Amino acid sequence: MSALSEFSAALAAGSIRVIDLTNRLSATTPALRLPDPFANLIDFRLEQVSEYDEPGPFWKHANIHTGEHIGTHLDAPVHWISGRDGHDVSEIPPARLIGPAVVIDKTAEVAENPDFLLEVDDVLAWEAEHGPLPENGWLLYRTGWDEFADDQDAFLNADETGSHTPGISAACAEWLATERPISGFGVETVGIDAGRGAELDPPFPAHYHLLGHDKYGITSLQRLADLPATGAVLVVAPLPIVGGSGSPTRVLALVADAA
Ligand code: MN
Repeated sequence: MSALSEFSAALAAGSIRVIDLTNRLSATTPALRLPDPFANLIDFRLEQVSEYDEPGPFWKHANIHTGEHIGTHLDAPVHWISGRDGHDVSEIPPARLIGPAVVIDKTAEVAENPDFLLEVDDVLAWEAEHGPLPENGWLLYRTGWDEFADDQDAFLNADETGSHTPGISAACAEWLATERPISGFGVETVGIDAGRGAELDPPFPAHYHLLGHDKYGITSLQRLADLPATGAVLVVAPLPIVGGSGSPTRVLALVADAA
């Protein structure tokens, strides 16, 4: 049997399961809210054009209105000034979008401190237990934040001092971007930087370093708790928007049952 026939057989037998890590996309899907004077994207909206009625008696179809960075989505290199000469979302090599996924779990730390920042030492400690971060793979950062994914206020967790959601330190972002062969970094929060990422140096260091080094971000992931620390395979499917800085993205994980 070829590797793909074995894979298909395992899918049919259910020994490989498909887990959808995507948040559902609707007008109420939580989205980033930038403070003044910055301009925000529009939220997702469905505009019905016909529904088995006069404008389309046998069919239903709609227009979609959305910002690029709404719901579970991918950040392409050109999203950030550091990656402005890099790939837009349509130019990303497809082989970079499918690869091994590993999960680092900081749920307990984030429950104590929503402003928790992942550090290089946290990843080194993870590697000491599980092995090196995978080449052409995805580092997924579990924080428990998907618990809030249906509630805009809880998801953004903002007060007068700003948004309080977990992220990674500037040193860790630079180290991941330059010292590890990953394809990208995935989070459960609204963006790949901490809620208070503007206060770091450089501001929004995950965006700055990762996108500036031809790595990708994925946000608003769900159900990372259902993934093993190592061994899953991720399929990341952004729309190939020409010139696009990102796209709402379906993210599927393939997980094999323990033999
Ligand atoms: Mn984004």
